[in-house]
Amino acid sequence: MIAAVLHGPNDLRIEEVKTPACGQDELLIRVKAVGLCGSDIRTIFNGHKRITYPQILGHEITGDIVKVGSGVTKYQEGQRIYVSPTVPCFDCAACKNGWYCQCENLTVPGTTIPGGFAEYMVITKDIIERGQIIPIPDNMSYENAVMTEPLSSVYACQENADVTLGDTVVVIGTGPIGCLHIELARLRGAIRVIAVEQSEVRLKMAKQFGADYLINSKNEDPVARVKEITGNWGAEKIISANPSTDAQKQAIEMAAKRGKVVFFGGVAPGKLTEIDTNLVHYNQLMLLGHFGYDHLQNYKSFALIASGRLAAEKYVTHVLPLAEIKKGIELTQSGEAIKVVLQP
Ligand SMILES: [Zn+2]
Ligand SMILES: [Zn+2]
Repeated sequence: MIAAVLHGPNDLRIEEVKTPACGQDELLIRVKAVGLCGSDIRTIFNGHKRITYPQILGHEITGDIVKVGSGVTKYQEGQRIYVSPTVPCFDCAACKNGWYCQCENLTVPGTTIPGGFAEYMVITKDIIERGQIIPIPDNMSYENAVMTEPLSSVYACQENADVTLGDTVVVIGTGPIGCLHIELARLRGAIRVIAVEQSEVRLKMAKQFGADYLINSKNEDPVARVKEITGNWGAEKIISANPSTDAQKQAIEMAAKRGKVVFFGGVAPGKLTEIDTNLVHYNQLMLLGHFGYDHLQNYKSFALIASGRLAAEKYVTHVLPLAEIKKGIELTQSGEAIKVVLQP
């Protein structure tokens, strides 16, 4: 079969590999659509601390079950499925506290085991027992189902930060994740959503997903502008979905009293953000980190897309054959694509 195999940092090859065998407690799927995620691109160029080489990447996975191991009773051949890449151990301290996305032994297809950038993929016993497989309804496309993965993280973030009715929400960074944040904040009842971004192309995108105000932070001071828009009050929820320490600093400065600031995007290792802790102290700000999602949040995100309330097709701007993954990376990096979905 054809697969996109990462042999080391910056060494991605489209090549012929052996089609994996399906064990008795496993499923084999024909991968139908798989998302190209920002984290895949980072891993392709820089590697990943948990990856084993050579590895087939791809963690936003959908496909058809083509083989069912003799020991598997819950699934049938021909089922269309979405496969969540979060497979916790249920045994470590984090899992015992219910924080599955913080699992210390997380199995991740596309990082620790082969993922979906291939024609076929084995759904291991671990995934079947401790991951999450969701059957895709007939009226839902594979491409839309793929959006469940990025949405899950966004959904979990806004649920944990309690984005709610009446909030002014600022989203800093409007790549695909930022756009999902904008649309979801509106669905959760925000009265005002403000997008902050340095790229004009991405700001236009933010408008399309329902941002009420657009601030180009290259041209104007986002803190002053948010204060102006909110009558000097600030925003109740600020989500920094980008790798900039300046944006993190600004997020704190534009928060309303008792506001919540979420660091959704990681910054370069070793880079520190300078913050005025008096703002945190006197204004009783809450600083939250966000990473990942749990099974229930994943399921609810899938249901939100399946219901049509969140129009996933608006995000999928490019569907390309797997062999054109390099073109997909360029389209994503230039900001021309919102979401690239690959078809192996
Ligand atoms: Zn992803
Ligand atoms: Zn665990």
